[in-house]
Amino acid sequence: VRGCRKCRLCEGRLHALCGEGNRRARLMLVAQAPGATEDREGRMFLGPSGRVLDELLKEAGIERSTLYMTNLVKCMLPKNRAPKRDEIAACAPYLEREIALVDPEVIAPLGYYAIRHIFETYGIPLPPRREMRMLFGKAVSAGGRTIIPLQHPAVVLYNASYRASLVENYKKLGALPEMGNRK
Ligand code: SF4
Repeated sequence: VRGCRKCRLCEGRLHALCGEGNRRARLMLVAQAPGATEDREGRMFLGPSGRVLDELLKEAGIERSTLYMTNLVKCMLPKNRAPKRDEIAACAPYLEREIALVDPEVIAPLGYYAIRHIFETYGIPLPPRREMRMLFGKAVSAGGRTIIPLQHPAVVLYNASYRASLVENYKKLGALPEMGNRK
């Protein structure tokens, strides 16, 4: 991943980010892409979104050290634009490999593009985008795993009124039976 030049996103990055965390995790978070702080420092969820994530995990009773975190695309997106289909397709084999290696019981895609990709990968019907919020916090079984789509922590940075619904949905993550006896 670190030396990858398979798509145009390599041109603007400082660091291509591998996922990181507990390689025996039961829970894998799949965010969209590194932000500016993460690109500069070469680590996952360090910037403002990371602070929100830490708060949400704390309220859900989940320790960051128990989970594995990665991104749909491993390089920063210019001006935080949406990832393009061809960029996602170029990067997807890395995510597939991470899922195969970590073999998590629960995958939580964060935000629209990660949710769309994971749903397509596991053959789960995706509603129109305007109805996406109906999916948040609702667990689906597919391919031997539990998929639970969640809002990306960054939405709280844009609109603090969303915080309560994120807290509620991240707590559902912590309450899943698959999360019992976490390593
Ligand atoms: Fe490679 Fe993925 Fe970065 Fe594109 S986004 S250059 S496929 S690591």
